[in-house]
Amino acid sequence: MHRRAFLRLVPAGLLAARGAAVRATQPARRTRAILLGTAGGPSPKRGRAAPASVVLVDDVAYVVDCGNGVARQLVLAGVDLSRIRHVFITHHHSDHNADFGTLLLLAWTAGLKTPVDSWGPPPLARMTELFFEMSAPDIEIRIADEARPPLKPLVHPHEIREAATIVEDERVKVRCAVVHHPMVPIAMAYRFDGPDRSIVFSGDTTRSEALVALARGADVLVHEVLYPEAYAEAAAASARSVAKHIIESHTPVEEVGRLAQEAGVRTLVLSHFVPDNNADAERSWLPLARKHFRGEVIVGRDLLEI
Ligand SMILES: [Zn+2]
Ligand SMILES: [Zn+2]
Repeated sequence: MHRRAFLRLVPAGLLAARGAAVRATQPARRTRAILLGTAGGPSPKRGRAAPASVVLVDDVAYVVDCGNGVARQLVLAGVDLSRIRHVFITHHHSDHNADFGTLLLLAWTAGLKTPVDSWGPPPLARMTELFFEMSAPDIEIRIADEARPPLKPLVHPHEIREAATIVEDERVKVRCAVVHHPMVPIAMAYRFDGPDRSIVFSGDTTRSEALVALARGADVLVHEVLYPEAYAEAAAASARSVAKHIIESHTPVEEVGRLAQEAGVRTLVLSHFVPDNNADAERSWLPLARKHFRGEVIVGRDLLEI
C-alpha cells in the first residue's frame, strides 16, 4: 500500500505504537539523559521547571543541578529516586541549588537506602550540614516512626575548586571544568563519558574555552542560551542594571552554536532559556543556534530524553 494511503487509514495511536516497536528493535542505550527543568533564572516560570537534568547509566541516576521541584520532575520522568547515586551542582545560584537538600530528603522518604555522593563548589559541605540541622525534626521522627536508616551517614559532599576527574566507576567517568559565570566565585561544567555516549552540561557560563575543551568530540552538549537583544535596551539605559549583568553572565545563542562547532560535538541541546519564550522557542532560538553549527540542534524542553 502507498505510505500516504496507509497513514490515512491507520489511527494515530497505532502509528505511535508502530514507532515504539521500531525503536524497540534498535539496541537500547545504556547512557541516557533527561532534561528535567529547562528554565533559566530563579523566578518560577509557567512553562518550564527550574534547571536540573539527569544522566542515567543502566538506570543508575546522576543528577545535575537541583532547581526547585527537581524531585517531582524526576518522578515525572519515571526515575526511581532510590536510584540516585551522585548529585552534581554546577554553581550556587538558587535556580541550580534551591532543592539540593530537599532532593536528598525526599529521595530518602521515597526509599533511598544507599550512599549518595554530592559534588559542587564550596560551601557545599556546610550547606549539607545546615540542611540536615534544619530538617532534623522531620528526619528524627521518620527514623523512629518509619524505621528508616539515618540519612546523614548516606550523604557524602565533596567540594571541588578546579578541573578534575571526579568520578570513575564501573559505569561512567565524570570530569569537571571551571567556567566563567561573573559574580559567582566557582562555576562548573560537567562531562559524563558513559559506556556508549558522552554528554556535557555547560552550567551557567559566558563563552568558555575550558568548556570547549571539555566538550571536545562529545556526542551531546547541553548548553545554556541567552537572547541578548531582549536585554539590550535596558542594559544601555543603566550601567548597573540586572539586564547588563544578565548579558555579561551568559552565552548568546549564536555564540553557543559557534563553540559547539569548534568543540566538534554531534548534537547541541539548548537549555536554560534567558529570557523564557516557550511559545515561540523553535522559531526564535533554532536559526540562531544553527548559524555556525552544522550538527543536530535540539530546542530543550522539560522531560525531554536526549
Ligand atoms: Zn541559572
Ligand atoms: Zn547562574
